[in-house]
Amino acid sequence: MTRRRRWTFGLLSMSAAVSTLLLVQQVPASAVASVQSAKPDPQAALVPLYQHAAAERDLPWTLLAGIDRYAELTKSKADRAEHPWYGLAFQPAAWAGMDNPNWDDVNPTTIALFHGLGVDANGDGLAVQWDPADRIAVLANWLDEQSGEDDDSTAVWDLFQDATAMDRVYSFAAIFERYGIPPDKHCFPLAKRYNYTIKHSFGAGRSYGGPRIHEGVDIFAGYGTPVLACSYGYVELLGWNRFGGWRVGIRDVNNVYYYYAHLSSFAKGLHQGQLVEPGQVIGYVGSSGYGPPGTSGKFPPHLHFGMYKDTGRSEWAFSPSAQLLQWQRLPQHIVYPDKAH
Ligand SMILES: [Zn+2]
Repeated sequence: MTRRRRWTFGLLSMSAAVSTLLLVQQVPASAVASVQSAKPDPQAALVPLYQHAAAERDLPWTLLAGIDRYAELTKSKADRAEHPWYGLAFQPAAWAGMDNPNWDDVNPTTIALFHGLGVDANGDGLAVQWDPADRIAVLANWLDEQSGEDDDSTAVWDLFQDATAMDRVYSFAAIFERYGIPPDKHCFPLAKRYNYTIKHSFGAGRSYGGPRIHEGVDIFAGYGTPVLACSYGYVELLGWNRFGGWRVGIRDVNNVYYYYAHLSSFAKGLHQGQLVEPGQVIGYVGSSGYGPPGTSGKFPPHLHFGMYKDTGRSEWAFSPSAQLLQWQRLPQHIVYPDKAH
């Protein structure tokens, strides 16, 4: 049985009843991406549980992990206080069974009697959400039951009911498929053996195109200096923008968005949706922008580099200066376009 990735966004009303049972969470994520090199990810410990639950139900484990990751990153403070465990949470009534007089029921027999979702997956006699084996088994069961013969996307849609969430869940899953749960590893955005100068100008005024503030820092370097991906991630956006010229946007599995602008060109073959790793060449420094497509040379060549954090409810730019200073000290392993996989 193959599960095609066919997204259907029209089943909102059909799924409304189910969705009220599911609590989709939001968190102000671990604020800023870690600046340490190759720090293991806390979700990595859950991989055997995803794999076990997925294998029993013919689901990709990476989908379970992608859902859990997105739910974790978008939990609100209140939801986190109530459901402090990693990842998605089910509402108590859904877990215990709507007609169950005890919505805090942890007895798998009575939960089953009241058609609750909760199960005891690891044989400890309890069906509890804070036990990751039980919770992940329930998520896998639910996806398996909601999915048609060949499609898991409507079930995922029911969980989040948001096109952006769908995009992120499947993109995270694709990253997990290729790299496993990637370590928190970073790279300075320019090849360090070239000359460059960082101008820490986050928040400064800008006048082109009306008053606005500078949402990033500028790193001055010669034309053609290789521009590198700072983290594991995927190309969310690629093309021309009046302000940024030829620019690339890359999102990582912490829901941090890296914005690279004023490029002279992109790495050969780079395309939207492509997965990247730290140190992978994504383009070359230029001076494009401030006009219609192809405009160049209105300012000295530099990389405009921005970082944005998204919690699912709001997205904001923060100064990348601290990260850049840290990443500058890390060794670089440059991955050229023809070597990237
Ligand atoms: Zn700039």
